[in-house]
Amino acid sequence: METNTSYDPSFAREVFENVDSGEEIKMCMQCGMCAASCPLREHMDYPPRQIFSMIRAGKRDMVLNANSIMMCTSCYTCQVRCPRGIPVIDVMHGLAHYAISKGILTRKDTAVFGREFWQQIYKTGRIDEKDLSRRYFFADGIITGIKKSLQMARMGIIMLLHGRMKILPEKKIKGIKSLRSMLDKAMQTGKGGSEV
Ligand code: SF4
Ligand code: SF4
Repeated sequence: METNTSYDPSFAREVFENVDSGEEIKMCMQCGMCAASCPLREHMDYPPRQIFSMIRAGKRDMVLNANSIMMCTSCYTCQVRCPRGIPVIDVMHGLAHYAISKGILTRKDTAVFGREFWQQIYKTGRIDEKDLSRRYFFADGIITGIKKSLQMARMGIIMLLHGRMKILPEKKIKGIKSLRSMLDKAMQTGKGGSEV
């Protein structure tokens, strides 16, 4: 991936003002606990500590194009260990939302997964594993979809056998209206949904 590595001195302020919990990174003391704790650090372009450092250094394109900001699984490991109590997850997700709002999408399949997850929860209050997987696998086209489906076929069979995936579509939960009200509220406050 080719990214512009130029320095944008206004980027830190842009993050503080526009990214969810962006101002919290002012408290980061670069101890590296989040990076050391993250189970996905080896797959990330840059771990959270480095992302926060690059924001301060004005590396706008590198940060917004980093796969890291779309890779966080909200496992909370970094967040509970951060000595400064920084909401690392909110910042990472906030950066992902901000990048998407600027037309930057480094991991399309992740965005598709988030969107489909949200839509299914909104529709029925449950996740239909087979439907979610199908949409996620085929997000990058038929060939990729077939490859991913074959790779995960064994897992799918095991899930079926253990009742973790159903053949019939999922039914709506009882309190679907209440759940939708909460999700609508989350959308209004900018803490929900996924735009691709
Ligand atoms: S653990 Fe907290 S203070 Fe340490 S580098 Fe990460 S975000 Fe910064
Ligand atoms: S919450 Fe995200 S950034 Fe933090 S350790 Fe887990 S995956 Fe890594």
